[in-house]
Amino acid sequence: MLKNRVALVTGSTSGIGLGLARALAREGAHVMLHGFGDPTEIERLRRSLAEEHGVTVRYNHADVSKADQVTRLIRDTEEGFGAVDILINNAGVQFVSPVEDFPSERWSEIQNIVLNASFHAIKAVVPGMKRRGWGRILNLVSAHGLVASPFKSAYVAAKHGQVGLTKCVALELAETAITCNAICPGYVRTPLVENQIESQSKAHGLSRERVINEVILAAQPTKRFIEVEEVAALAVFLCGEPARSITGAAIPIDGGWTAR
Ligand code: NAD
Repeated sequence: MLKNRVALVTGSTSGIGLGLARALAREGAHVMLHGFGDPTEIERLRRSLAEEHGVTVRYNHADVSKADQVTRLIRDTEEGFGAVDILINNAGVQFVSPVEDFPSERWSEIQNIVLNASFHAIKAVVPGMKRRGWGRILNLVSAHGLVASPFKSAYVAAKHGQVGLTKCVALELAETAITCNAICPGYVRTPLVENQIESQSKAHGLSRERVINEVILAAQPTKRFIEVEEVAALAVFLCGEPARSITGAAIPIDGGWTAR
């Protein structure tokens, strides 16, 4: 369905981003893998994705907390592949603390990686998409882009910001064949959530099982984690032609969390 489209997925060396990269490659898209991690493991991933799906897969390790590196990431992807047709702003980090103790440098880091990087990437990618007359921009946000939880002020603020950015960009591009949407998952079991289980377990002196059931999944009416593949399937749909009229939407995939 996405044969020969070029997709850049930020933060695709792990978790949801890796699932998105796999799903797009399966649909025939060439992929720029991006993010941090063990170089040997990333090279193994890059090769296996390319060989399994017969697509070109490259890798870039730009630090998206830095505006100039985000701009260069878009430029390098365009130069390497000739285009960026699909941009998924997925890289993200989490930090949990009461607001009065929230380390200011952690606040800034989260705004830079989540919100500011999305802006810089979109700003750099739109001219090429306009020239080529087609594009898909997805911001991998969170249910926390729609509702809040205590102790996540930086993350919730940045994720709400991404939803606002999504709407503005969609309106500005509405008369083109470029759409911009936000995907808002509830809890997906990835390294980002595993770290939260670990830290909450230590902070509250609870077993991992109790943290999962009484803290994490308490927000999710279905009482189960969302699978990476479910998020990836929604992303693939939004990248296809049948989704051409869906733009400016913030779509929950959250087991009913935001229905409360
Ligand atoms: P993860 O920790 O598994 O992956 C995060 C990715 O971002 C990694 O590839 C990492 O290398 C990359 N990254 C982090 N900081 C970076 C930086 N400065 N520069 C470049 N790359 C950087 O996390 P995940 O759970 O897969 O999360 C992916 C996205 O989904 C995030 O935006 C997160 O907020 C969002 N999300 C996650 C969940 C969940 O439950 N896991 C729920 C809703 C939204």
